Amino acid sequence: MLAQAGRPMGLEFIFLDPAEDACAAEFGEHIHADWDDEAALTELGERSDVVTFDFENVPESSASLIESLCPVYPPPRALFTSQDRMREKSLMQELDIPVAPFFPVSSRPELKAAVEQMGLPCVLKTRRFGYDGKGQTVLRLQEDLERAWQLLGDQDLICEGFVPFDAECSIIAARGRDGSTVFWPLTLNLHRDGVLAISMAPVFDAQMQARAEALIQRLLEHLDYTGVMALELFLKDGELLANEFAPRVHNSGHWTIDGARTSQFENHLRAICGLPLGDTACSSKALMFNILGQMPETAEQASAHWQGDLHWHDYHKTARAGRKIGHVTITAESDAGLRAKAAQLAGELGVAAEINLENILEGLGKARG
Ligand code: AMP
Repeated sequence: MLAQAGRPMGLEFIFLDPAEDACAAEFGEHIHADWDDEAALTELGERSDVVTFDFENVPESSASLIESLCPVYPPPRALFTSQDRMREKSLMQELDIPVAPFFPVSSRPELKAAVEQMGLPCVLKTRRFGYDGKGQTVLRLQEDLERAWQLLGDQDLICEGFVPFDAECSIIAARGRDGSTVFWPLTLNLHRDGVLAISMAPVFDAQMQARAEALIQRLLEHLDYTGVMALELFLKDGELLANEFAPRVHNSGHWTIDGARTSQFENHLRAICGLPLGDTACSSKALMFNILGQMPETAEQASAHWQGDLHWHDYHKTARAGRKIGHVTITAESDAGLRAKAAQLAGELGVAAEINLENILEGLGKARG
């Protein structure tokens, strides 16, 4: 999606991806190599004007190797911080960004002590390589401690207080090389089994927007950041608590392709290339469904049926259970129109049909008072 945004801007792309069937390959040259292949990284660095990444488990040493050859944005320091939940949460705490209580855990006694300090429920997570709810488990009863330890105990862990949130949201910002910063409207996110299912914007008022912007701004400035960053937040009793940040374009910002004047992808490229950032205002109300596993067979008919308000994005990835292989964004002029279309689409395609958007929005209204 970065390359799809960048080609009309006249940019050319070389991709390093260990996947043989890398879906980006049709948009440029594909260097098929592992993330830590020094010869391949050197080739990429030598042949590029600027290098970026959209996958946060790129080894920090690989980003640093390339940085010795050409500029790398976002800064490898941001990548390094986000790759370990302890480092990430500690930095947020240092910057006065509210987070749930957390403790490092690397033994059974440490787990027991952490649970005694925080009480139940709490969430035990791997410090590294967790994504989409993988590498984490919720502890609700004393018996869960041993089960959780058996499940995850062979790695460094973090135990966090469980946040009984009213809603989840994310603030996405782009910061240019000159420090100029723009923000998209705070996005409401619904997860299913730890995986993002739906994102919707705009939903929040100006006050909540300003609070979220102030939080991500601290990270951007501290890291002297260039590029797009997303900060995932919990909303509880009108307060925002940070969960994690992503030093890259983010799934909850995919709606910006069809629903904002400038997408997160275009602004990421503008930022890393030292170009002026584009306007992030919404061009309409937008709601995105992720498509997991395989593209629905009825996609083409639905597309014809819905015409301009339905925007299909097929990543041309091999179908696999649970894999994010596409998304669809609905755009509309009004909230009511958006919700009606979303309900119809969910019904027609069985996409995330079990997620009750109305209930969530009602809950959000109550949380706001
Ligand atoms: P993460 O991998 O940290 O983004 O977590 C994936 C999802 O798990 C989040 O989007 C939340 O829905 C849920 N989750 C993670 N951490 C917590 C927590 N401390 N309290 C409640 N829910 C959580």
